[in-house]
Amino acid sequence: MPLGQPADADDRELEEIRYQVEDMAEEESSAPGAPPPDDNRPRPRVYSIQLDEARIDADAAKVVRRLVRAGYEAYLVGGCVRDLLLARRPKDFDVCTSARPDDVRRLFRNSRVIGRRFRLVHVLFGGGKVIETATFRRAPEADEDRGAEDLLIRNDNVFGEAHQDARRRDFTINALFYDLERNEVLDWVGGMPDIERRAVHTIGKPLVRFLEDPVRILRAIKFSAKLDLGITPETYDAIVEARKALARAAKPRLFEEILRLMREGAAHRALFLCWETGVMDVLLPELSTFLADREEDDDRVWQLLQEIDRRTIENGPLDDVVLWTVLLAEPLREACDGARDRVEMAHEFLEGVVDRLNVPRRIAESIRRIVALMPRLESGRGGRFSRTPLYPVAMEVLDIYRNALGDAAEGAFDAPEGPSDNAALAPTEERRPRKRRRRRR
Ligand code: ATP
Ligand code: MG
Repeated sequence: MPLGQPADADDRELEEIRYQVEDMAEEESSAPGAPPPDDNRPRPRVYSIQLDEARIDADAAKVVRRLVRAGYEAYLVGGCVRDLLLARRPKDFDVCTSARPDDVRRLFRNSRVIGRRFRLVHVLFGGGKVIETATFRRAPEADEDRGAEDLLIRNDNVFGEAHQDARRRDFTINALFYDLERNEVLDWVGGMPDIERRAVHTIGKPLVRFLEDPVRILRAIKFSAKLDLGITPETYDAIVEARKALARAAKPRLFEEILRLMREGAAHRALFLCWETGVMDVLLPELSTFLADREEDDDRVWQLLQEIDRRTIENGPLDDVVLWTVLLAEPLREACDGARDRVEMAHEFLEGVVDRLNVPRRIAESIRRIVALMPRLESGRGGRFSRTPLYPVAMEVLDIYRNALGDAAEGAFDAPEGPSDNAALAPTEERRPRKRRRRRR
């Protein structure tokens, strides 16, 4: 969905594409290769598609083929199939199979079983490559008649069949299976039409799926942003409706997912979506309040995020500390502006974020120090800080500021010299009360 367009225009566009795609899907459903109709399993729609072999990881293909030769069902699945269909290079390749973990383990000497709740097999190849090979499983809710006491056990280690494994996944575009032998995509969830119309849509009712696992909200935003896909109106509305549930999600997962939004070269789009949907109010109210209160023509936050994207696309993902510092830099600057003690202010500002998202201490501490030292770095006086490992990280933040804002970056961190500089060199615990100096203009 192009950002900034009125929602109803997007809706119309999606609707139009939906009709075209459904026509196509109808034709494809009678394609050869579908499982015989004489059992009761749901039948997938089968699409004959030759995915680009050159882009398929040879080792992943080896894993699938050996499993199939041994008599099991095995497919490429998830992100790799989605990315190949969207003509992108997949980050990694996942395999799913009817073989149980111990069977997989036996077939591959170079493998190990991992995970306690749900056991998967990592098949290891040279250069540290791992092909994650998972046995089909089903969602625990799909279980028929479990006793009441069983329901209390939150165990998703329930093996299942291919169609159940497809349905337990989050978005339709993430639930396509690719049969390497027959060059066919198997689709139990309407993923192919969504690939065609370039739309993120949950499997099943969006609100239910988001409340089941609110982190899926951030995943929807990530896929929309990084793959340049629309979000269907129903899914979008459910994001808005379920967003408060994010406060109940596991904090480390939230922290990690926000980083993923920043790392994929689409931080600007992703954070814009977070803002537009109100997700940012729940996760980073400091930033959304800042955005709401800023001057109308102040686009600095967005310009900084665009600069992050430019660099990521050119040189790969940036350091986590750089990403977090730049994300929070503008509201942090505002919080510190005019403060007698920048370090203390930065610390107070970050406290809420740290609590809400379990920001690791190392990262929070680094952000605080960088922001406190910025005025010094701006004027080229790194001093003894320039010999610390944090120095290049801080300089990258400054560089992002200068590239993104040009002249406007000058004096962005204008602040007094003095105690803050030295204090910023020391970890918070070691800081002692000190004499405060007046801010010098
Ligand atoms: P990426 O390219 O970002 O890695 P991906 O689709 O491979 O995208 P992963 O997080 O690696 O995403 O997850 C692999 C697959 O597992 C997904 O494609 C999806 O089918 C399933 N999955 C991941 N997280 C969830 C979730 N929270 N709920 C349901 N299914 C999920
Ligand atoms: Mg993946």
